[in-house]
Amino acid sequence: MIFPIRISKLMKQMNLKEFIKLRTLLLLITCLISFNQLEAQNIIFEEHFEEATLRFDYHHAGTDTSEVIYPEEYIKERYWSGSKKHLISPFDYGKYKVVIKDAETKTTIYSNGYSTLFMEWQTMPEAKKKKRSYYESVNVPFPKNKVIIEINSIDKSQKWTNIYSEEIDPADYFIKKEREFKYKVEEIQVNKSPNKALDILFIPEGYTVNEMDKFIADVTRLKSSLFKVSPFNKFKKSINIRAVLAPSEESGTDIPGQGIWKKTILNTNFYTFNSERYLTTKDIKAIKDIAGVSYYDQIYILVNTEKYGGGAIYNFYNLCTSDNKFTEEVFTHEFGHGLAWLADEYYYDDDMSSFYDKTLEPREENITTLVNFDKKWKNKLPKKLEIPTTASPKNINKIGVYEGAGYTSKGVYRAFQECKMKSNSTKEFCEVCEETIIKVLEYYRE
Ligand SMILES: [Zn+2]
Repeated sequence: MIFPIRISKLMKQMNLKEFIKLRTLLLLITCLISFNQLEAQNIIFEEHFEEATLRFDYHHAGTDTSEVIYPEEYIKERYWSGSKKHLISPFDYGKYKVVIKDAETKTTIYSNGYSTLFMEWQTMPEAKKKKRSYYESVNVPFPKNKVIIEINSIDKSQKWTNIYSEEIDPADYFIKKEREFKYKVEEIQVNKSPNKALDILFIPEGYTVNEMDKFIADVTRLKSSLFKVSPFNKFKKSINIRAVLAPSEESGTDIPGQGIWKKTILNTNFYTFNSERYLTTKDIKAIKDIAGVSYYDQIYILVNTEKYGGGAIYNFYNLCTSDNKFTEEVFTHEFGHGLAWLADEYYYDDDMSSFYDKTLEPREENITTLVNFDKKWKNKLPKKLEIPTTASPKNINKIGVYEGAGYTSKGVYRAFQECKMKSNSTKEFCEVCEETIIKVLEYYRE
């Protein structure tokens, strides 16, 4: 209603020529605004994509301050399990972003965030001295027309840079189509269409062919433990769980610090970056080749050992061990990283860690440096709250600004004294973490 009145007032003050010029300009601005809204919201899946996956495998190489992408191969996979409604991720999560643009109009038609092991290696002392490469892989819906694939990376100053861009013709006969569907997929719980659910795929690591029943029993146990935890218990109907029966030659996994090496299907190992409990794998090709036999949004690798450990990288993979007394706690903690890009809320007393730049606001939702606290849980705080809030029995379960999070005891803060992202001693995610997970689960179920 306001717009026409203003126009009529302006008309009285201008001659016709000036008015037409202004009207043209306003129309152009309106069109641009609508175009941007269209770009953000109205991408029709069927116009741009087939119900299949385009998998892009590449090598990510560099040092602590440099990075480059070397393409390896494109593969067409049978399934697409992501949302068909939300094609452009609403989340500013992860160190990298894969973006698909229509080659003709240059319009963004798909984007998603993720993180990688390479990025963690870049923070290690070794990265200052030598170059290294990591195998990586991203999935996007299979395009119907020519598209441009872009990989963007955010640096320590939180500036995005394009590190890879290439035009892809979906008709290119070098896009590999052969797939080996030699592994059976067991449906542990399938409640909804893959496009309207979070699809978790469990892959066994270090389970022999005779231990497949144990694997299914372990997955079933972890499924039950997931649905004991909020908010997962409220989203049971929009979470699908499947398990691939992919046996290893030997039981267990590699423990380099103890000279133990096992022949396993995903080549996982403890002692990642010399941290005994940090269990990961660099064999992304093996993971993705196995995962391609099923629908999946999240890969959970279950490692057949009693040893304490795990790891997770956002939208990349999650890992935990099967038979430790803390298995259930580690399982959900790691999923907080892999699914919702939650930061670790624990910290070390020596305060030597410089993982987070304290002059910038961390991008993860559950920690703050107070640099831009408005973006975080500030609006949930009671009036006249002491900052930092004292961690004491009196304040247990009370929202505040508790110092110590993100591996450092000074200058990085968390919202609650206890949370699953802080320790194994609590069974619940804090309110801030829970809300973040809810946003992600809602994104998958629509
Ligand atoms: Zn938390």
